[in-house]
Amino acid sequence: MENFNPSRYAVISEKNPREIVMLRGRGCSWRRCRFCDYHLDSSADEEANFKLNQKQLCKVTGIHQKLEVINSGSFVDLDTATLSLIEQVCLEKQIQQVHFECHWRHRGAISEFRERFAALGIELKIKTGVETFDKLFRESYLDKGIDADAPEDIAVYFDEVCLLLGLPGQTEESMELDIETGLSHFERVCVNIMQENLRPVKPDPRVIAAFTEKLYPKYIENSRVDILMENTAFGVGGVVEHAE
Ligand code: SF4
Repeated sequence: MENFNPSRYAVISEKNPREIVMLRGRGCSWRRCRFCDYHLDSSADEEANFKLNQKQLCKVTGIHQKLEVINSGSFVDLDTATLSLIEQVCLEKQIQQVHFECHWRHRGAISEFRERFAALGIELKIKTGVETFDKLFRESYLDKGIDADAPEDIAVYFDEVCLLLGLPGQTEESMELDIETGLSHFERVCVNIMQENLRPVKPDPRVIAAFTEKLYPKYIENSRVDILMENTAFGVGGVVEHAE
């Protein structure tokens, strides 16, 4: 991959204050979502990944006793040395809660992972990208790879959800329904507004305008809703300009 030198550490001070690190793993094993290019931030070289991750984890101070770990995939894609270092940093910096990402296909690994951290007195919050609760749209258009029908079935495993809004075919009503469904079944909802990349799914400016005018004002003060109008809004990430 070339020209990808993203910011990988930030402190989020508003809403659920936490530190966030964007680590690198072996990469998402699904890789089929038709809107996603962030799985390109990956490498099969575990040693190189660990070195890069170590550099970021060294920056964690524990200022808010909460840490969010993202890695353009699922926690299962991180190498074992990185996972051990996360545990060590949490203990040293008295971090009591860690948020990790996980795709639906790895849901079976979550309970053991929660237990592993719970044994150290650390609570895990597991976030998954649902994108929308409209299953037909999600699976036929986005190819998300979640075969669950109902939000309750997803909430059995996950604490938090990401939604992807601003897509062709969505409406003010459908976006509001997704946010309300997320709030009813999950602790927190993270709204990502679609941004153009090299993948086939494109943002719809009219849908984004409807969100900005009607829904952004309605939810921006909601402490359980994060809204990322740009995917670097948390202070981490960047644009992949050329990947191979
Ligand atoms: S599961 Fe996540 S990382 Fe993998 S292709 Fe889909 S959106 Fe991208």
